[in-house]
Amino acid sequence: MTSRWGVRVSMAGLLVAAVWLAPAGLGQEPPLDGYTQADSKTQRDWETKFKAIPDPNILRSSMERLAARPHNVGTAYDKENAEWILSKYKEWGWDAHIETFDVLYPTPKRRVVELTAPHKFTAKLEEPTVAEDPTSSQKSEQLPTYHVYSIDGDVTGPLVYVNYGAVDDYEELARLGISVKGAIVIVRYGRTWRGIKPKLAAEHGAIGCLIYSDPRDDGYFEDNVFPKGPMRPPDGVQRGSVEDFPSSFPGDPLYFDRGDPSAPHYTAQNAPGITKIPVLPISYGDAQPLLAALGGPVAPDGWRGALPITYHVGSGPAEVHMAVQSDWGLKTLYDVIAKIPGASEPDEWIVRGNHHDGWVNGAEDPISGQVAEMEEARAMGELLKQGWKPKRTIIYCAWDGEEPGLLGSTAWGEVHGKELQEHAVAYINSDSNARGFLFMQGSHVLEHFLNGVARDVEDPETNMSVDERRRLAAISAAHSPAERAELRSHPDVRLQALGSGSDYTVFIDRLGVASLNLGFGGETHGGIYHSVYDDFYWYTHFGDTKFVYGRALAQTIGTAVMRLADADLLPFDFAGLSDAVRTYTKECEDQLKKEQDETRERNQELREGVYRAINDPEHPLQAPKQEAPVPYLNFAPLDNAVDALAHSAEHYRHAVAHAGPNVLESAEALRPINARLRESEQHLLDAAGLPHRPWYRHMLYAPGLYTGYGVKTLPGVREGIEQRQWQEADEEIARLGKLLTADAAFIDSTAKQLEQAGGGQ
Ligand SMILES: [Zn+2]
Repeated sequence: MTSRWGVRVSMAGLLVAAVWLAPAGLGQEPPLDGYTQADSKTQRDWETKFKAIPDPNILRSSMERLAARPHNVGTAYDKENAEWILSKYKEWGWDAHIETFDVLYPTPKRRVVELTAPHKFTAKLEEPTVAEDPTSSQKSEQLPTYHVYSIDGDVTGPLVYVNYGAVDDYEELARLGISVKGAIVIVRYGRTWRGIKPKLAAEHGAIGCLIYSDPRDDGYFEDNVFPKGPMRPPDGVQRGSVEDFPSSFPGDPLYFDRGDPSAPHYTAQNAPGITKIPVLPISYGDAQPLLAALGGPVAPDGWRGALPITYHVGSGPAEVHMAVQSDWGLKTLYDVIAKIPGASEPDEWIVRGNHHDGWVNGAEDPISGQVAEMEEARAMGELLKQGWKPKRTIIYCAWDGEEPGLLGSTAWGEVHGKELQEHAVAYINSDSNARGFLFMQGSHVLEHFLNGVARDVEDPETNMSVDERRRLAAISAAHSPAERAELRSHPDVRLQALGSGSDYTVFIDRLGVASLNLGFGGETHGGIYHSVYDDFYWYTHFGDTKFVYGRALAQTIGTAVMRLADADLLPFDFAGLSDAVRTYTKECEDQLKKEQDETRERNQELREGVYRAINDPEHPLQAPKQEAPVPYLNFAPLDNAVDALAHSAEHYRHAVAHAGPNVLESAEALRPINARLRESEQHLLDAAGLPHRPWYRHMLYAPGLYTGYGVKTLPGVREGIEQRQWQEADEEIARLGKLLTADAAFIDSTAKQLEQAGGGQ
């Protein structure tokens, strides 16, 4: 891996080189794998013992217990599950307790969807019992199908179909000459996070929003439907949160920051996360009569789903009446928090979490991940009995209230924010788990480390390492020879960036704790997400039926936790970070170029009369509007910072490679270095937060403002360009350039400190 070691001296690099001049003849691999230098054999022995413990039979029986009854927030079984998890941790020798938080959690009292013209049809809004599936009949405990944090409303209006309800769908709708003003829109699940759909609909003037699951996306078009197969049956409904957290903040909509008494506090009437118009989810059984009643233009090609109808856009003659009314009470969350105190570095914490609340029985989401976390905890309990003493403190969390909007993790993260910023080394998250390939998202400083962990875990289907299987799968899926060449030459598989979508959000986006999100998937398909059919019966017929990927997940994350807890020098490496920032910068530059080219071309076609020429008067399409040309932006501050970062990353690697045992085996010498590494992710935060959404302080990642779960990298810059806010984009480039230049200086001085700890080499 010497090829990555070459020193690149660039314009900005020279500035840094004045401080540090790279010696020639490098080539030694720095010890950044997370093994202690003095006794890595003992550490490997403990890991081997650990990996032998997680047991598919226990994963299975724990899932059966936790998914036996509906366990959404506020139910008796949600609390019972938390107490059962607590009792297990105590049994395994952990120091465990429950922390509670009272949160706004509306549940539905009245739900109506009916077609009032051209004929009458009333939607069922009900998921029927399936005879083979025992828990599907637990009617009295099942949460009705709804969207949590929809505003109450009772509206009637013409229906309009807007495909996925994404930004470009509304552009296409405008070209068809159709407006949603005063209308109820029907859109399908997919392409954007669900909360974006009512948000965009309201911004375009709609008065209500229905979201349905098209069989093309997760129904019979893909595979047989449940119970014959894994896919969504005609009456299956996807519940979910529509809290507008990408443009405000996640967690309880009433608290901007629960840990800060001076932060804004809202009521259900003025909370920014509540939707502006009522919204309800429906099945394709309920959607078909509504869509079939639509007139107006035939839907564009890419808008057509798999229902046996001709898809029209509307509006009219279909008219719909919809009503939502909820009980806006507070409910209690139960977060289980369990600890193993560190033997020699108790003030350094490795934090791990997975939620325990589900929408209904929630076997896949979240119990498949929750039971893996519990197996890690049980195995570590065994090792404690055999004499294992982790250096650092390990904290395992079972979160409540993830489904409505990351409520339990956000509240806990905010309330303990100060301590976490002082003590947390890393946060490792999982959620649902299935069969297939390891997906790895996370902070790039942990990229090199995590690749090492994945090399040491065996894939249960192929017996190659989960790392190797993932790399080969990525080569198979690559789109270009360049991408394949990169995968073959790059020693570490890149981590995907974190945006939002699970409980890591507060840790990475708000607190700047280096975070990872891991799980297996890609081989199991299903259409039971957030329905009553996501249960033990489904999972044991169509999920990870042998629970061997549950075991692989426990082995992967448990190994990562142990290695982080026991490393002498924390295995943080900045090469992955600097590579990633270079890539993200290039993406922003490409995005600007694309906007420039497209705008120029469109304006020229408008001048040439292209749109007039292709317009069919019997199927008219309106021409797009002439737009102002896209200006050039000055990326120099960012490009220079990227070079400085690359240089400091190399400097740090060099310092580690040349540190002697007097440093690498000395807890005293390493303590101040580790403290700097621990806080390094916080150097990517800006206290002022992102433009228009100050809760989000991480300058490299955020959920997409208009896509929700789509990850935005360098979000301030990227969104400035996409929203054509040129001045804002320019300011964001400058701000990010400054931040990353300061980060490069911090990494450099960390490297220097390491060199000096060794007596200056
Ligand atoms: Zn989940």
